[in-house]
Amino acid sequence: MHTRIEMPDYIEYAIDALGAGGYGAYAVGGCVRDSLLGAAPKDWDIATDAKPFEISHVFYGHRQLTHGAKYGTVAVFVGDAPAPVEITTYRTDGEYSDNRRPDTVIFAPDLREDLRRRDFTINALAYRHDCGVIDYFGGRADLDGKVIRCVGDARERFGEDALRIMRALRFASTLSFNIEERTASAMRGLEHSLKNIAAERVCAELTGILAGDGAGAEAVLMEFFDIFCLLIPELDGRTRKIMARAVGASAPCVALRASLLLWGVAPADARGALMRLRFSGDVIGDVVELLAHRDADVASGDAAIRRLLHKIGPKRLRLLLGARRALARACKKATQAAEAIEAAENRMAAIIARGDCYSLKDLNIKGGDLIALGFKPGRALGAALDTLLDGVMSGDCQNDRAALCSAAQMILRTALQR
Ligand code: ATP
Ligand code: MG
Repeated sequence: MHTRIEMPDYIEYAIDALGAGGYGAYAVGGCVRDSLLGAAPKDWDIATDAKPFEISHVFYGHRQLTHGAKYGTVAVFVGDAPAPVEITTYRTDGEYSDNRRPDTVIFAPDLREDLRRRDFTINALAYRHDCGVIDYFGGRADLDGKVIRCVGDARERFGEDALRIMRALRFASTLSFNIEERTASAMRGLEHSLKNIAAERVCAELTGILAGDGAGAEAVLMEFFDIFCLLIPELDGRTRKIMARAVGASAPCVALRASLLLWGVAPADARGALMRLRFSGDVIGDVVELLAHRDADVASGDAAIRRLLHKIGPKRLRLLLGARRALARACKKATQAAEAIEAAENRMAAIIARGDCYSLKDLNIKGGDLIALGFKPGRALGAALDTLLDGVMSGDCQNDRAALCSAAQMILRTALQR
């Protein structure tokens, strides 16, 4: 009995349509891997012996995108597919002269050759209902054993395309798989060729690594920290263990985990590193702000939390506390510190639930009120509002109009006496 994989109707339709045209066609790659792992595939790719113009012909009447045809891919809008389905002619990659992209695309005679050029055994699987899973390279055994292993000679495969090094780390992190020994040692030998890979592509994989499963991300950082240090020379190799553990103990959020990785780095240097790596402005903003407040007082009480909410807002404070908690957990003896951070997290939740004031917009006195009390518009008025807000955040003054007006009058009197 073949293993049966459930495919969306539009994929069955596309495979059948190619079959009716006399062509062989299979679901291939990540969709087969994810299905066998019991996860929902992100997208479904099809490989076929039909040449691009033949694919176009089979799907005559369907909207098609043919700009990838020179690489063998026609994207076809079939049925209710959420995105066009990529249908690619069996290929073997040509020569690589720069460990980046094959110089030429050569069509392969059969499915086996197409699967042979794929990166890892777990990604070199194909499927069709009538034949079941097609596995020439031991991908199913590696899925069962949770192993990332190159198809063929690992040094050769990473030599052809250094991005595969990052892909191996990404799959190890997201799936919590181990990287097989020969594959791992080939990665370590060739990591320098990563400099030939476009920063955007490295960044996409780094993002995937950082968003991985806790245990997987921790193991990848622990074992391959050198590769991260190569990509980010600002990192301190001596922090490997603690950073790996902290990442393992944190939520799978890219900004939070990038901050943990860069915890010992000055905010400006962290900004430079992340810009060089082409991280998004949002991630860079979060990381730089977190690092700038990494030592902030979070444990002394509600006032400290309200002040931090004022400075960096709830989203970043949540990230900061998450990072501090993960670090406390990573230092084994620091249970007390971890508890203090958890108490701060609860305090922050309560502050937000109560609707405590921590910003000028929630302060029950406005600039106009101060002018009515005798303040002149300008810097002193702004400073008075800040003082009043700080009084409310510290708990010294109630956030009600009468209390704030009398506090404002005191500020005014003191200013006049000077
Ligand atoms: P994801 O879940 O991220 O989409 P995926 O395995 O589907 O994972 P894709 O980048 O969509 O990854 O690639 C589809 C397939 O193409 C892979 O499963 C693999 O067989 C092959 N592939 C992708 N990139 C490479 C590469 N750099 N070298 C060799 N084969 C590759
Ligand atoms: Mg994919």
